[in-house]
Amino acid sequence: MSFHSLGLDAKVLQAVQDAGYTEPTPIQAAAIPQVLAGHDLIGIAQTGTGKTAAFTLPMLTKLAAVIGDGRQRGTRALVIAPTRELVLQIEENVKAYGRHLPLSVATVFGGVGEQQQINALRNGTHLIIACPGRLLDLMGRRCADFSQLQYLVLDEADRMLDMGFLPSIRQVVRSLPQKRQTLLFSATLSKEIEVLTHEFQRAPKLVQIGRRANPAETVTQFVYEISKNLKPALLLHLLRDPGMDMVLVFSRMKHSADRIARGLEQKGIRTAALHSNRSQNQRLKALKDFKSGAVRVLVATDIAARGIDVDGISHVVNYDFPMHAEDYVHRIGRTGRAHAVGDAISFVTPEDQGELRALERFIGRGIVRKKAEGFNYAAVPPQVAEDRPRPQQSRGPQGHRPFSSQSRPPQGGGGGSRPVSGNREGGNEHRPVARPAGRFQRFRSR
Ligand code: AMP
Repeated sequence: MSFHSLGLDAKVLQAVQDAGYTEPTPIQAAAIPQVLAGHDLIGIAQTGTGKTAAFTLPMLTKLAAVIGDGRQRGTRALVIAPTRELVLQIEENVKAYGRHLPLSVATVFGGVGEQQQINALRNGTHLIIACPGRLLDLMGRRCADFSQLQYLVLDEADRMLDMGFLPSIRQVVRSLPQKRQTLLFSATLSKEIEVLTHEFQRAPKLVQIGRRANPAETVTQFVYEISKNLKPALLLHLLRDPGMDMVLVFSRMKHSADRIARGLEQKGIRTAALHSNRSQNQRLKALKDFKSGAVRVLVATDIAARGIDVDGISHVVNYDFPMHAEDYVHRIGRTGRAHAVGDAISFVTPEDQGELRALERFIGRGIVRKKAEGFNYAAVPPQVAEDRPRPQQSRGPQGHRPFSSQSRPPQGGGGGSRPVSGNREGGNEHRPVARPAGRFQRFRSR
């Protein structure tokens, strides 16, 4: 099936094409026609199935007809989601899918200043994506006018119930126009969800997508417990394995993505970086080079990597452990796609232990802790921290680039008389490689 057969607006279709999607996911194929036909909908699908587009694409198609040239104000659509992260993720999707439409979009959630949100609500922003608590608060203060509302989406409804949002949601929904289309998405169809659908929906159609193979269950995962300053050296060490031929490395911050990429390049490993500070052209080139094999490693941030659809990724490396379990599942779902094999490796520092435990609870299983064979865990003194300010030149006591730690012998070496480097792509783990002794000695002298 193609997106063209679904009856979507031409500008929405264009955006779908821009996103690089070639065919609808099962939830999209099933849900989009129902939403376009005007039905209320219960969508049972998990994150990662493409459910955001399943409700956004038909909703934008319908909004396109209403908002005309965009000057027509009035909030027509409200999406309620449990967390700020999800709200921001939906916003990002809506903006991408609505990029060719004169659509205004705003988010509402707690923990940040409210004035901008109040203005957005008062200005009749076309589409609002909100967490229930702050939304109810602002509605109670008469900051919102939903009299023209036509579409309501309750995303991750089961999670909202778990989080105790039912009373807030009830209050919000009661003050919305009765005549509206309501779409409810949930990972499970429980008794409580059924109650909710009876209360909020009219003759809803049910679209249930069988559980997608959860990457957390199929991808081989392990963890290296390591101090932060050893991460660059460990990454290089691992990359000596030629089996790591198409590697997606995740970093939390844009600048560290650049730094990791630079460090690998300096060691002769073809690498590209992908994050939102890079221009569209740079991002496209990075992806193209990664897909074609022109670069072996792609270092990306979560946001930039969302929607990356590349077959054949051999390894995902969580260089920085993700803050949220959902991000972990998204990240590791990038491997094991085409040929269902793939490894997900996570670097876990002492500070990440809490998140690791939370993740294990989330995916319902423990993750194997591994020791990197042949890697000298004692090799790098703590002061060679990767977060030190970058020197102009990698010379002198302040002048170590990240990854200079690789000039230490991986076996502990004691006296360190024989520098061994990880600068050879696909090289043998223990192979000594001649390096300028001066640099090594400077390193040693610290
Ligand atoms: P979601 O379940 O909405 O969180 O979507 C999961 C991921 O799938 C996101 O990274 C989307 O960008 C991506 N995605 C959504 N629809 C498609 C599609 N039809 N083809 C490829 N990727 C998609």
